Amino acid sequence: MNSVYDITFRIRRYDPELKRSYVHVYRLEAGRILRFVDLFRKINEEQDPTLAWNSSCEHGQCGTCSIRVNGKPLLACELLVENAVSYFGTTTFTIEPLDIAPVLRDLVVDIEKAYKRIAQVKPYIIQPSSKQKEEEAYCITSNELEQYVNATRCINCFCCASACISSHKGFLGPNAMLASIVRLMDPREQEKRQRLQTLYSDNGVYRCHSSKACSFVCPKEIDVAHFIALAKQGRFKTTQDE
Ligand code: SF4
Ligand code: SF4
Repeated sequence: MNSVYDITFRIRRYDPELKRSYVHVYRLEAGRILRFVDLFRKINEEQDPTLAWNSSCEHGQCGTCSIRVNGKPLLACELLVENAVSYFGTTTFTIEPLDIAPVLRDLVVDIEKAYKRIAQVKPYIIQPSSKQKEEEAYCITSNELEQYVNATRCINCFCCASACISSHKGFLGPNAMLASIVRLMDPREQEKRQRLQTLYSDNGVYRCHSSKACSFVCPKEIDVAHFIALAKQGRFKTTQDE
C-alpha cells in the first residue's frame, strides 16, 4: 500500500462568462487517506484558486459535494484516495459535475433547478393525522417504522438521479419518487390522493425501468429501486382504496 500517490485529475470545467466547457488536467501528490474534497482544496491553495466546487458538512450528511468520478456519481467528501485507486484501478480520474441540472461553473450545478422536481412531490407531510394533537407526539410503532426508515435517510445528494437510466426526460427521478413514497408509508400522512396522483402521473414511477442503478450508487445505501418497485406493484393504490 502506497503512503503517497501521484494523482491526475481531468476536471470538466465550465466558464459561464465565455460559455466554454473544457477539460483541465491537474497533477498532485496525495496522501492515501486524503478525501477528494481535500484534493480540490489543495488545488485551490497550491495550483489554481479559480477551480469552483461545492461542499458543506463534509461528513456525508448534506449531499452538497456530489460529483461524477470516472462516470460514477458519489460524494467527494467520502472518497478517500486509496479507496478511489483501489475501486477504479487507476490513479487518473475524470471528474465531472452531476448532470441533473445546468452547470453554473466547473463542478457547481444549479441545485435550485434540480430541487424543482423534489418540490413537485411536496417532501413534507401535507395533512397530518387528526390523531396528532399539537401538544402530543404521534407514536409510530417500530413495525411501521421498519418498513420505511431506510428511505428517511435520503440526503438529496442527487447521485441516484444522475445515475438513473430512465429515457423519459420528464421523469421526476428516483429521489423525488422516494420523497413521496416515504410520506405515503408514514402513518401520519393523511393526504394520499394528491401523492398518488403525482406518483402515478405521466412523469411518475412507471417511467422507471427497474435497473437498480439508483440503489447501486446511493451513498446512504438506500435500496431506492425497492421502494419504487413497491409503488409500481400498486402497493399504495390499495391504501387509498381502503
Ligand atoms: S436516495 Fe440516496 S442517492 Fe438518491 S438522493 Fe437520496 S441519498 Fe442521494
Ligand atoms: S431503477 Fe428506476 S429510478 Fe432507479 S435508476 Fe433505474 S430507472 Fe432510474
